[in-house]
Amino acid sequence: MINLASKSAIEVIVYQCIYCGKKRRLVIPRTFKPSKSSDSVGLIDYVDVHRCENDELTAIICFVDANSAVRSQVKIKATHAGYIAERDFTKEKKEDPFAILGIPSPTKKEFIDVNIESKNFKARNIEGFQIKDRIRKKIYYFGKQGKGQALPTKSRLGFIDITLFLSKKVADQLYKEWEKGLKKDKRRTFPYTTTRKWVQHLADEMESIIRLDEKMLPYIAEYIDKHITTEPNEQRLIELDLLLNLTISIPWTKRDKYEQLGDVIQELFPNKPVKELADIVMSVASCIDNNEKTLLDIYNLVSKRVPLSEFLDIFGVLVAKGYVNLTKLQFTSY
Ligand SMILES: [Zn+2]
Repeated sequence: MINLASKSAIEVIVYQCIYCGKKRRLVIPRTFKPSKSSDSVGLIDYVDVHRCENDELTAIICFVDANSAVRSQVKIKATHAGYIAERDFTKEKKEDPFAILGIPSPTKKEFIDVNIESKNFKARNIEGFQIKDRIRKKIYYFGKQGKGQALPTKSRLGFIDITLFLSKKVADQLYKEWEKGLKKDKRRTFPYTTTRKWVQHLADEMESIIRLDEKMLPYIAEYIDKHITTEPNEQRLIELDLLLNLTISIPWTKRDKYEQLGDVIQELFPNKPVKELADIVMSVASCIDNNEKTLLDIYNLVSKRVPLSEFLDIFGVLVAKGYVNLTKLQFTSY
């Protein structure tokens, strides 16, 4: 018997790019409810980076309605400060179908300043940072601006500029270490190369994310502040991704992997409390064949007992070792 009440756990957004004609597809869990875009009427904007016209990597912002239909597409050119829209702004507003839909007309100067605050930020190694996001037309400010050593970094496609302000003390110390290394083996590296790896990774990730959850930015700042003096390894970069994608990624595993994990978890983390590991294994059980719960939903199962930093620390290893997989929500070719 067909149960008419049971709905599919996923929603599929399909659109055809008006610039290159490619069909693109985004699968999201039905439970996934992003906050609405503040400057549109009930439309949610998702970012799709793909090889578009002339084989150029381009970001398309799709404005999606409550029925998962893409109502409008706006292309953002990497080298340009503003939108390139297939839209004629010289005409009367009432003739503009986008205006009728309530989609705001983009203008060139509309970067919005956003101050990001965090009570837990310790300013151990960084003073603050600034993120200029050309996709979302926002500039995020965190902590002190213009203090210490500025490290500017650009994302791969140039949509995201991050300037990190390293504290003077840490900058001096890293510079000294670099000088020492230079004398020893005459490597032709630049100072702060390892530090930059963090920022570069963050910039590239922010550029490719379908929807940036600003709530995660204070956590990102705290994380970077804590770890920036050491070179990031694979696991650390996964942790950073986990943080950035906490509310928009789906962790999943298979039953046999989960069962294997039960046998090895204490070997993997000999220094972690057994109770905490038991909680983590319990949360991994909820990842078996999961296609709807986000990483945050999984974390919420144990959040009363396990701090987020510990959860990410352990999950970072589980993902790196293949016990848990992470599906980041993103557009794929159709
Ligand atoms: Zn395209």
